[in-house]
Parts: sequence; structure tokens; C-alpha cells
Amino acid sequence: MTSASTPSLPGQLNPTPRLLLGPGPSDLHPRVVAAMTTPLLGHLDPQFLLLMSETQEMLRAVFQTRNELTLPISATGSGGMEACLVNLLEPGDRALICVAGYFGERMAEMARRCGAEVHVEQESWGKTFSPDRLREALRRVRPKVLGIVNAETSTGAWQDISFLGALCREFDALAVVDCVTSLGCTPVAIDTWQIDAAFSCSQKGLSCPPGLAPLTFGPRALEALYRRKSPVRSWYFDLTALRSYWGTERVYHHTAPITMIYALREGLRLVLEEGLEARFERHQRHARALRAGLEALGLRTLAEESCQLPQLHAVLLPDGVNDVQGRKRLLEEFGIEVGGGLGEYKGRVWRIGLMGYNSRTNCVFQVLAALEKVLI
Ligand code: PLP
Repeated sequence: MTSASTPSLPGQLNPTPRLLLGPGPSDLHPRVVAAMTTPLLGHLDPQFLLLMSETQEMLRAVFQTRNELTLPISATGSGGMEACLVNLLEPGDRALICVAGYFGERMAEMARRCGAEVHVEQESWGKTFSPDRLREALRRVRPKVLGIVNAETSTGAWQDISFLGALCREFDALAVVDCVTSLGCTPVAIDTWQIDAAFSCSQKGLSCPPGLAPLTFGPRALEALYRRKSPVRSWYFDLTALRSYWGTERVYHHTAPITMIYALREGLRLVLEEGLEARFERHQRHARALRAGLEALGLRTLAEESCQLPQLHAVLLPDGVNDVQGRKRLLEEFGIEVGGGLGEYKGRVWRIGLMGYNSRTNCVFQVLAALEKVLI
């Protein structure tokens, strides 16, 4: 007999395998899985400290930066977003947040919770911001921080940020960029583009599980951090303290998620082994194949072609398709997960991701075959 204090034991963990072709997480690379079975080390073991340094060095290469303050935050992408904003914004600071989708909205809300005076530059979902539009907004608002999303996962739109650093310098603003869906899939050239702060995640282009948020702070962001009048409002995300753990002092801050660092280290090794350019081209190649197939099926995407991301397509559902039932069929009959729509596109799009390890020919064929059965 079981009582309230002794629940019956659930069976051994054995979920039906899925092909994760949504907006993330995407499937783990088998080498990442293998790395995660490596025995634990202590978080201050000299061997682990070396692995941390190697991970940081590879992260710099993938972010294309020499920024010393480049490290993975122990959190998901939202934690990376929060870490950037809470370190750079003090109550009363002005922030200009560009919103053209769900994740821009999240950034605006986080900036508000840092006590900032938030000005939202709003664009229709699926569209992007031009340099002229942002120059005008910077001139009007004169913010300390400009926040923008490089790859808007709710719409599949790619925002050009190559001009952003130079533009922000004209107005003495800091350029903060959400690279959650871009890192490892499309170019992120932090130093060339003079981006002051950026963050990402582990579970999309890097083919690792969710749980780490790569982050990088450039010299102007560091200067703003050390010029704060008040302490960083978050203890856990305070980069002045995290820097002492990840820097040469190795002062204990929190217990690093060892297994996740193993995973990230292997994910980054895979990126660099392949080469950044080859990796970006692979994402473009499979996106072209996907788009050809979508077109043949008469399906259209939300974002304009000129700014369509290769790693994430938001496919507009044909009239009469039931979103929830359709995705259930994909999952149950084909073992494929795609993402539903967010915000105003809930029930109107399916978000198909071909990210990192999943940017592969057989993923393209499998998802197109399933879409043909379920949608057409
Ligand atoms: N920013 C963007 C562009 C995202 O796509 C996501 C998640 O999909 C996030 C932020 C939040 O990341 P997470 O869900 O890992 O916290």
C-alpha cells in the first residue's frame, strides 16, 4: 500500500525519441552527449579551471572577440539577457529597446525591472530596423543602452547589427545584442561590429542542452559597469563577482554546472573544427533546401525574404489547419517537434528550426515529408 509520504516509484526514464526541429532546444550532437558522461571534477579542481579557460578562449573565437570578460552564465538565454541588462542599467537610466517580436518585448520588460526608463522603438513583427530609423531614435532618446535582437525567434527575422556599434558610439550609447538564436548559426562579429555586450544560449546553434548563456562584455560596457553608482541589483548575475571566478583570481562564486561546461566545451570544439564560415554556409544551404520545399508545398513564411533567417522559419499556416492538432500529429506520427507561434502569431505559424547539429539534409527531408502529410 502507498501512503502520501511514499509515492509509487515512477518507471525508469524512457521518453520516446523526438527530432527537435522547433525554435530550440535542438538536438544534441552525439559528441556533446559523450562529453556529458565524463566523470565530474570539483569546480575548483585545477583540471576544471583549465577546462574553463579553454571554454572561454573558444567562446571568444565563436563570438569573434578578444573581450576578456567572455564567459558562460549559469542560466538559460533569458539569464544572459538579464545579466547584461542588470549590470549595465541603474534605476533611472534611459534604455532604448527595439521591439519587432516576442523577445524584444522580453528585453523591454527586463530593462523596466532594472528600474530603467524604457523607450520602446516598435516595429511590426517580422520586420527589422534600418540604420536611419535607429539613428533617429538614438537622437531622440539619448539612451545609455540600446537593446536589440539579432535573430528574432518569434518571427524568423534577421536583424542586421553590423552598423550598430558605430552608430551607438555617435550617441555615446552601449549596443547590447541578443544573439540567442544567432550564435553558431549566422555570423556574430562582436569586435568588427563594435558590439558592447551580447549574450546567447547553449541549446540552439551550439547543439548543447539548455542551461548556459554565453556572454561577452567589451571595454565600454566594462567601464560602464565599474562606473556604476549603485551595486548591481542581482547578486547571482553580478559580473564584477563572476569575473573573479572566471578570471585569474578564481574566487569561489557559485558551484559551476560542471557537466554543462563539458557540453559547451565540446559544442564549441565542434563549431571551431568545422570553421565559422563553413558552418554559416551549411545553415544557408539547408535553409535554401527547406525554402524550396516549402515553396513547392505552397507555404509562405512570416519574415520578408530579404531578412529571413536560415536557422528559423516561421511558416504561415494555411487556412483551416488546426495548430494544436497539427503539431500533435507531427509529434505522434512523425516524432517531430516544431514550435507554435508566440504573441499575435499564436495559432498562425509553425516555427521550424534547423540549428547547429540539426542543420542537416535528412532533417530537411523529414520535416518536409511530414508537413506535406499534415498540412496539405
Ligand atoms: N532571446 C531569444 C531571441 C530567444 O529565442 C530566446 C529563447 O528562445 C530567449 C531570448 C530566451 O532564452 P531561454 O529560453 O534560453 O531563456
